[in-house]
Amino acid sequence: MSFQVQGKDLLGRIGTLTTKSGSFQTPHMFPVVDPNLPIIDPKFFREAGIRAIMTNAYLLKRARPGQPPKDVHGTLDFKETVATDSGAYQILEYGHVGVKPAEIVAYQEKIGTDIGVILDFPTGFHSDARRAGWTVDETVRRADEALKRIKRKDILWVGPVQGGVHIKEVARSALEMGKRPFSIYALGSPTELMEAQRFDVLVDMIVAAKKGLPHSRPLHLFGAGHPAMFPFIVALGCDMFDSAAYALYARTGRYLTSEGTQELAEIEEFSCMCRVCDRTTPAEMRRLDQPERERLLSKHNLLACFSELRRIREAIRTGHLWDLLEHRTYANPAFKKFLAKIIHHSSFLERFTPTVKPRGISHFGEASDSRPEMVRFNVRRARVPVERRKAVVLLAGRWRRPYHEDPRNLPIVSKLANRSNVSICFYTIPFGPVPMELDETFPLAQTESFDSHDPIMYKQRAEQVDAWVKRLSPKQVFLVSEGDYGVALGKELAKATRQLKVIGIQAKGSKPDRTVGSIIRLLR
Ligand SMILES: [Zn+2]
Repeated sequence: MSFQVQGKDLLGRIGTLTTKSGSFQTPHMFPVVDPNLPIIDPKFFREAGIRAIMTNAYLLKRARPGQPPKDVHGTLDFKETVATDSGAYQILEYGHVGVKPAEIVAYQEKIGTDIGVILDFPTGFHSDARRAGWTVDETVRRADEALKRIKRKDILWVGPVQGGVHIKEVARSALEMGKRPFSIYALGSPTELMEAQRFDVLVDMIVAAKKGLPHSRPLHLFGAGHPAMFPFIVALGCDMFDSAAYALYARTGRYLTSEGTQELAEIEEFSCMCRVCDRTTPAEMRRLDQPERERLLSKHNLLACFSELRRIREAIRTGHLWDLLEHRTYANPAFKKFLAKIIHHSSFLERFTPTVKPRGISHFGEASDSRPEMVRFNVRRARVPVERRKAVVLLAGRWRRPYHEDPRNLPIVSKLANRSNVSICFYTIPFGPVPMELDETFPLAQTESFDSHDPIMYKQRAEQVDAWVKRLSPKQVFLVSEGDYGVALGKELAKATRQLKVIGIQAKGSKPDRTVGSIIRLLR
């Protein structure tokens, strides 16, 4: 087995996982197949390039009482990677007591699964903290028992992390499971949270798991199957997930898209042009028999998931995963909450984001302030060594980068840059204050932003510039004021630095040569 990482952005990554039956790319969604009620012909998976599927070992076993175990690839008519879930949930649900943890491990070995899950003890959604703690301990105990019993080393074994909504328990579970030699780790079923749109809790759960587990191993999220959620969970470091949602949604006439769910009954035209939607209209699909409609809709739903995974991988390659998240928040207000919670962990995300990206980044507004590149810039700015008691010259940083090369700034900068008693800083929309020392660093020149002329944004940025100026405790401040941003900054400086003389110079109508002449005359 190997897990090779080819690309990273935020906590998300592109990888290749190799099992004894083949390789597949991550992030990946295992379509969950009901072994006793297949909806889609396995040929379709091959044609669509889906190289790993999942089924349920417990359901397989239960469907064949008294019969010898049969190779799972043969049962499903699928030669490539098959993962099997242990059926812990079903066992809880049906209250079946006849299956022991060791039995499920042995059964998965006999049917030749490629990725097997030990029989864990799911915490569930409604457990209190004490009960959650018990499920964590019980899962660890079962993990140790399973590790002793495992004979086949060619199977990749999954160690599930439990704890439910109790974040401390998730963290403890991740630390404990992380000490044990599993090939893959998994986070116990947050399906109910996703259905209830409690994305805030989900974010904390995933981050807690991620912090405790070895980063070199893949992390699987149980039961995530809506493409609209994929960018968020991938950005948090989930490499794989599994779901039967494509089929369950199809059963009730629901059509999955990257932005959300549509009702087949209400669709006039399919926006998707996959092999299903290209050949049939919504009206035609509505007229089909239930099984045929369900089959076609399942296929579209599945292709919508894999199309989204491609988009995510491309976003990782180009360093645009954050952009995709911001974009998606406009699809559903609940996703705003999702991103808002991710922003709480932006310094953790920053640690895993490449320092240099193949392409520039975008600053769309407030939410972009928390993207890792911005977080990193703020840290770097705070570390710039400053000499106090100089004169500070504040110049407008407009669209032209590096900011000092702006034709309005260049004549001023070239006359002042070599003076040891002057410190130059640009006031900008995306980054707030940009000291001259950082003007040529990534990603400043590569950042696209726009000025929304929002007074609140101006004020907030002016406060940041003011904080920077205070750090320098300057002798004099020269503000070359431009536009409303300049006015807002003038007000902020006047308010906060009363003892300090701020010399305002209007950029408009004044030639840069004259501006710098005035500054030099007034310099002390
Ligand atoms: Zn389609």
